Amino acid sequence: MSDYVGKLMESVKAKDPAQPEFHQAVQEVADSIQIVYEKHPIYRKTKVLERIIEPERVILFRVPWVDDQGEVQVNRGFRIEMNSAIGPYKGGLRFHPSVNLGILKFLAFEQVFKNGLTTLPMGGGKGGSDFDPKGKSDIEVMRFTQAFMSELFRHIGPNTDVPAGDIGVGGREVGFLFGQYKKLRNEFTGVLTGKGLNWGGSLIRPEATGYGAVYFAAEMLATRDETLEGKTCIVSGSGNVAQYTAEKVLDLGGKVTTFSDSGGYIFDDAGVDREKLAFVMDLKNNRRGRISEYAEKYPSAVYTPLDPNLDHNPLWNHKAECAFPSATQNEVNAVDAQNLVNQGVYVISEGANMPTVPAGVDIFMDNNVLYGLGKAANAGGVAVSGLEMSQNSLRLSWTREEVDTRLKGIMKSIHTQCIEASAAYGKPGNYIHGANIAGFLKVADSMLDQGVV
Ligand code: NAP
Repeated sequence: MSDYVGKLMESVKAKDPAQPEFHQAVQEVADSIQIVYEKHPIYRKTKVLERIIEPERVILFRVPWVDDQGEVQVNRGFRIEMNSAIGPYKGGLRFHPSVNLGILKFLAFEQVFKNGLTTLPMGGGKGGSDFDPKGKSDIEVMRFTQAFMSELFRHIGPNTDVPAGDIGVGGREVGFLFGQYKKLRNEFTGVLTGKGLNWGGSLIRPEATGYGAVYFAAEMLATRDETLEGKTCIVSGSGNVAQYTAEKVLDLGGKVTTFSDSGGYIFDDAGVDREKLAFVMDLKNNRRGRISEYAEKYPSAVYTPLDPNLDHNPLWNHKAECAFPSATQNEVNAVDAQNLVNQGVYVISEGANMPTVPAGVDIFMDNNVLYGLGKAANAGGVAVSGLEMSQNSLRLSWTREEVDTRLKGIMKSIHTQCIEASAAYGKPGNYIHGANIAGFLKVADSMLDQGVV
C-alpha cells in the first residue's frame, strides 16, 4: 500500500471507525486511483478523492408509524447525497434491518463511480431505513413508506435527487412512495424510478440489473471468444436481480442451478427452466414466501438451510463456469472464492453491490477469473433508471426493444471503458482498476471544472 493510500485510509477509519463496509469500498477505489495520481498529480493536489469520500449531505430522520396492533413503531430513515458533479443524486432506497449509516455510505460511494460509467448524467446517492418489510402486511408497508416519504419529500426532486429501489424496495414500495410524494408536493414528476408502467415507469426497468449483469458476463466471455451457451451458472439471492439474471441466462442458452434467500439455498441439478422461474417470481414477488418452497415443489432440487457455524456457504461449492452473486454485500468470503475456483468457475459477474470480500477478490485475480465487479456489472439497473428519467422528461415511452437495445449498448460501453482504462494505466484486463479509474476520471474532471464546492 502506498504512503498516500495508507494515510488516506487512516484518516477515513479515524473519522468513522464503525463503518467497515465504507472503509472496504474506499480502500478498493484508492488502490486503483493511486496509479492515476502518479500520472496526473493535479487530482492529488486538488484532493479530489478526499472530497469524493465526504458526502455532500447526509439526511437522517425519524420515521414513526403505527402497526396493525395499534402499536407505535420508530424506525430510522436516511438519504446520503454523495456527489452531484455529473447530475442529480441518483441511487436506490434499501429497507432492511441491517441498514445503517456505514452501509448506506458504502453504497452511495459505489454509486458515484457506477453512475459515472453509465454514460448518463447522474450523480450518486443512496438511502433507506432499518425497517424490515418481511412479515409486514401490505397496509403496514404502506403506512411505513408514507411516513418515510413524509420527511424525505423535502430533500428530493426530479432535478435534485431521484431515488429508486434496492433490497426490500420493489414495485409495491415505489408505488406507495410515489403516491405520498405526489400528494405532499401536488405535482406529478419523475422523482422516483422503478415506477409502474401506467404512471411513468420504463419498460425493462425491473429486468435491467439482472439483464445487464448477464450482458456484462457475455462481454467478458467474448474477450475469450466464448458465449454463455451451454454454461452452468450459480445465482445467489431470489429477488429482483437474481430473477432477471436467471431469465437472461436462459435466453442466452445457459443453465441456472441455484437460488437463495437469507434462510438457505436450493440446488437444482436439472436446471431452473421457465416454468420453475415463473414459480420463483410468483413465490417472491406475490406470495412473499421462502425459497425452501422451491424444493418442496420440485423433487429435482435440494434445499440446504444456512448454517452460521460453517466457515463457507455451500451454495458456492457446485460445479459451474459462471457465478452471479445477486443477494448482498460480502456474501462471498475467501473460502467461497476458493471453492468457486476449485469447481471450475472462471466468470464472476456481480449483480449485488460489493458481494465479494477483498481476500476473495484476490483469489479471483490470482486465478485469472474474468471478474466483473458490481459497480460495472450491475450498472444496468441505474442505467435504465436514467433512461426512465429521460422518457419522463420527454413525456414519451420507448418500446421494450428500444430500451433493451440501449441497455445492451450501455453495458458494452461500460465494458469497453473498463478495458481501455485498465490498459491505459498499465493493468490490462483488470476490470477493478478499469471501472474505478474510468468512473473516477469522469467525476473528478467534472469536479475540477466546477471549482472547490
Ligand atoms: P431484493 O429483491 O430485495 O432481493 C434480495 C435478495 O437477497 C433476497 O433473496 C434476500 O433474501 C437476499 N438477501 C438480502 N440480504 C441478505 C442477507 N443479509 N443475507 C442473505 N441473503 C440476503 O433486492 P435486489 O434488488 O435483488 O438487490 C440484490 C442486490 O443487488 C443488492 O446488493 C443490491 O444493492 C444490488 N443491486 C440492486 C439493483 C436493483 O436495481 N434492484 C441495482 C444494482 C444493484 P431474503 O428475502 O431472505 O432477505
